[in-house]
Amino acid sequence: MARKLAAGNWKMNGVEADLSEVDALASAVEAATCEVLLCPPATLIAPMAARAGLMDLYVGGQTCHTAQTGAHTGDISARMLADAGASHVILGHSERRADHGESSVDVALQVGAAIEAGLIAIVCVGETEAERDAGVTLQVVAAQVAGSIPTGAKPEQIVVAYEPVWAIGTGRTPTLEQIAEVHDHIRSELAARRGGAAQDIPLLYGGSVKPGNAAEIFAVSNVDGALVGGASLKAADFGGIIAALSAA
Ligand code: PEP
Repeated sequence: MARKLAAGNWKMNGVEADLSEVDALASAVEAATCEVLLCPPATLIAPMAARAGLMDLYVGGQTCHTAQTGAHTGDISARMLADAGASHVILGHSERRADHGESSVDVALQVGAAIEAGLIAIVCVGETEAERDAGVTLQVVAAQVAGSIPTGAKPEQIVVAYEPVWAIGTGRTPTLEQIAEVHDHIRSELAARRGGAAQDIPLLYGGSVKPGNAAEIFAVSNVDGALVGGASLKAADFGGIIAALSAA
């Protein structure tokens, strides 16, 4: 049985003053029966981790390099994220795949680096709108899952997030049937490679999750939580999502 996880992705939003949202999240985190994670910009990982230490909140990064050190100007390594207090890292987000040309081969190397540094890798997959319209969603997602997760990765070292690209930040979401179809497919693809251990890998849905639609999404088969962008920036909204997952 996979553990439940509510993960927030602050993307390139947030300055030190916004860390008051973390304090405002304390009662929601305390009441939660799921794991709660926030992934702020790299500059906020250490101060957020310092605050998170007072509650049961995990802190993560949003990407990492495939190497742990070296001449890579502007990059950050998994070991540095861990050193700053991160426990997780989001990898292969569609914004990284689109803006930085990261392929599934790159993502698999990043996942390997994250695991080497002791981090849990949240591996993002998802189809574009054109791919959904062309009827190739399941093939695209299966190829990303197979290509982005190194075969040696253990269930406790990875989380998979299904994030349809067209649903991210748009207010649009797939139907519950479409979410179920993709999540069931990801679970069976993982099971084909890993057998029963695949049941232990959390599968998150991501794309315009809000307090108002969270409960129905968490009731879908093989949905073990959410990766949340915009709604993770405000404690009131993210708290509602955490409560919905705890009740699911
Ligand atoms: C995301 O960027 O991972 C995401 C799911 O964003 P939003 O919740 O804003 O759609």
